[in-house]
Amino acid sequence: MTQPTIELKPSATPLSSAEREAILANPGFGRHFTDHMVTIKWTEGRGWHDGQLVPYGPLSLDPANMTLHYAQEIFEGLKAYRQPDGSVATFRPDKNAKRFQASARRLGMPELPVETFIEACDVLVQQDRAWVPAHGGEESLYLRPFMIATEVGLGVKPANEYLFLVIASPAGAYFAGGVKPVSIWLSEDRVRAVPGGMGDAKTGGNYAASLLAQAEAAAKGCDQVCYLDAVEHKWVEELGGMNLYFVYGDKIITPSLTGSILEGVTRDSLLTVARDLGYESEEGRVSIDQWQRDAENGTLTEVFACGTAAVITPVGTVKRTATEWQQSGGEPGKVTLRLREALLDIQRGVTSDEHGWMHPL
Ligand code: PMP
Repeated sequence: MTQPTIELKPSATPLSSAEREAILANPGFGRHFTDHMVTIKWTEGRGWHDGQLVPYGPLSLDPANMTLHYAQEIFEGLKAYRQPDGSVATFRPDKNAKRFQASARRLGMPELPVETFIEACDVLVQQDRAWVPAHGGEESLYLRPFMIATEVGLGVKPANEYLFLVIASPAGAYFAGGVKPVSIWLSEDRVRAVPGGMGDAKTGGNYAASLLAQAEAAAKGCDQVCYLDAVEHKWVEELGGMNLYFVYGDKIITPSLTGSILEGVTRDSLLTVARDLGYESEEGRVSIDQWQRDAENGTLTEVFACGTAAVITPVGTVKRTATEWQQSGGEPGKVTLRLREALLDIQRGVTSDEHGWMHPL
């Protein structure tokens, strides 16, 4: 199939540099969007077509648009970082492109070629490169590629028309006042994903399913929810938007990909970064009782969560229905902080990119 080319139709009224700089001074997360977006259409029989870079703006949707009713939607999240020489690079966009294809397959949607996914991100970042925060801190430009069904109708079936888009949003440092551990609510009655379900796809429905548990966590004074497997309610899976790692001295373990866990790009990168730093890293199974026991007897030295948004977040307090405990005295652990710095240094171009993960623009 021929690749769509992306036609540039830039905005005649982008924000002034003063307005943009005012936003970049305190961007928060996902609150402000750059001047442009990329859109590419897919139609049955025709494939991908009409790739465009256009001014960022609202979509016009028919009330019977299928996505609004049956949630045939997938998305991705990746970041562009300013490099020391002022250039810009994204981190492992090919991994996100492949995960986007896997999500598309699971949702019965067409697969966007990896090169087109990367090109769409490149074109947007290139156009809006002034929105990529300065080098040095932990700020970045967050990219949100996503795809929705655009067929109109209420029949339940895979749609015959789709729209792929990429939007971008400047992201401030996740921990503006220094790295702080998050507290975790262990949900023992609600599950995020089931075997044979969509847990390993990045689709809105998984996040909709997590919102009530997230609200319950907040009511218990916790920042994040940790989910267990849906069958035995025993094996630790992941948080609502981050994977987990358990640190046993010089060894780190992350739950194996069971089909109901999202395969995080950060998770995958850390398996390698940890080995580069001389730690052992592996995938395995950790039960909730083992977590509690090993935290209490001190063999489990640290726990951290990882994902594109916060890179690495230490886990402090863990609460479950009957009890609660603390990791590493509620302070960020040293392995956690070392891995965090090592990965951020690769992303910010401070250390050499031995694995060829950075994609320069
Ligand atoms: N799990 C879930 C459910 C997520 O939403 C995310 C964020 N994409 C992750 C894990 C971490 O994935 P990544 O490292 O690719 O951001």
